[in-house]
Amino acid sequence: ENFIPPYDCTVYELLRASGGVLLGKCDMDEFAMGSTNENTALGDTKNPWDITKVTGGSSGGSAAVVASGQAIFALGSDTGGSIRLPSSFCGVSGIKPTYSAVSRYGLVAFASSLDQIGPIARDARDAAIILDEIVKYDNRDSTSVMVETGYLKNLTDNIKGMKIGIDMSHYDGLNDEIKQAVFAALDVYKDLGCEIVDLSFSHNEIALSAYYIISSAEASSNLARFDGVNYGMRIQGDDIIDTYTQTRSKGFGREVKRRIMLGTFVLSSGYYDAYYKKALRARSVIKNNYDDAFKKCDIVISPTAVSGAFERGRKTQSPTEVYLADIYTVTANIAGIPAMSIPCGFTKDNLPIGLQIAANSYNEQKILNAAHAYQNAADYHTNKPGILKQV
Ligand code: GLN
Repeated sequence: ENFIPPYDCTVYELLRASGGVLLGKCDMDEFAMGSTNENTALGDTKNPWDITKVTGGSSGGSAAVVASGQAIFALGSDTGGSIRLPSSFCGVSGIKPTYSAVSRYGLVAFASSLDQIGPIARDARDAAIILDEIVKYDNRDSTSVMVETGYLKNLTDNIKGMKIGIDMSHYDGLNDEIKQAVFAALDVYKDLGCEIVDLSFSHNEIALSAYYIISSAEASSNLARFDGVNYGMRIQGDDIIDTYTQTRSKGFGREVKRRIMLGTFVLSSGYYDAYYKKALRARSVIKNNYDDAFKKCDIVISPTAVSGAFERGRKTQSPTEVYLADIYTVTANIAGIPAMSIPCGFTKDNLPIGLQIAANSYNEQKILNAAHAYQNAADYHTNKPGILKQV
C-alpha cells in the first residue's frame, strides 16, 4: 500500500516511450500467488460479468479492467497461468509469451524459471500490437533474448492447413459446458481448413505437482530477501532475529507463507531428492512431450480452465482445490512455451469460457493468427458458439 517504486520496469519504459499512458496499477494476488485474486491485503476484485464471482488470478485486476472497459489493455505476469486464467474468467484475450521473450526487469520475482510478463487485451489484434512493443532484448534481464517481432504486420486470418493438436484425455470428466464450447471452437477451426491431430500427453497427472513444487521452491528462495532489512516492510523487534520473525510473520499473507514453507520443505536436505529432484525430472518429461508434439502440430488447443469463474469466498478454505484450477495452464510455463487464452462462449450462467492455444517457443505468431482467425470467424459472444453465418 502506498508503495512508490524507485525505478521503472522495462515493460513500462517501453510502453511509455511509444506513447502509452499509465492509468494505474491493478489488484492481484499477493506476490502473484493465487488463482482467484482473493489472496490480497487490499480487498479482492470482482468479476465484471457477475460480481458474486472471482476474476481468477493472479492478474485478476488486469483482466477485470479490460473486461469492464476501463483500460484498452493491461499487463499481467504469468508463472503458472496468471494471465490466462483471469483472461478466461473475465472473457478477454491474454497471452503468456515464450520464456525470455519479455524482459522481467522490475518485476518482483515469484519463480524465476517460470515467470513471464504479457498483455491482456480485448482481442488477438490488440495483443499483437502490445507484444510488438514489449518483446525487446534487455540486458538487465539475464534470460532475455533477441526475438524477431512484427506480430501485427504478420497477423492473418488465413490459417488453412494449420495443424491443431488435442489431447482427448483433457476432456475426461470435464464439465459439459466447457467441453462443448471447446469442441465448438474446434469445429470452427475445421471450417477454417485446419487439421486436427491427436496427441496423448503422458504428463497430465504429474504437471500440477511438479509446478507447485518447483514454483514454491523458487519462491521460498526469492522471498528470502524480504527480511525487513533491505526490502519491503520492516517491523522493528528486540534484536535482529526478532525483527526478521516479526517482519516475515506480519508482512506475508497466509498463502505466501504456505508457499514459503512448502518450498523450504521440498528443498531441505532430507526431502530434496524425493520432491524437488523428482519435480525437475517431471519438468524434462513435460518439455520433451511438447517438443514431440510440435513435430506433429503447429498449435495445441485445450480449455484454459475447468469451469467458468467460481463463487467468491467459496474456495479460499481449500487451497488444494484452488490449485486444481491451474491444471491446463501450468505446463506452458514448465516447458517455457507461449500460450494464450481467448474467449470461446459462455456458460448457461453467462460466465465466459476460455480456449487455450499454445505453440512452440517463439511461435507467438501462430497463436495470434489462430486466435485472430477464430475471433473473425466465430460467434463466440453467445453460449452456443459456432461459425458465424457468412452474409
Ligand atoms: N495460480 C498459480 C499459483 O498460484 C499461478 C500463479 C501465477 O501464474 N502467478 O501459483
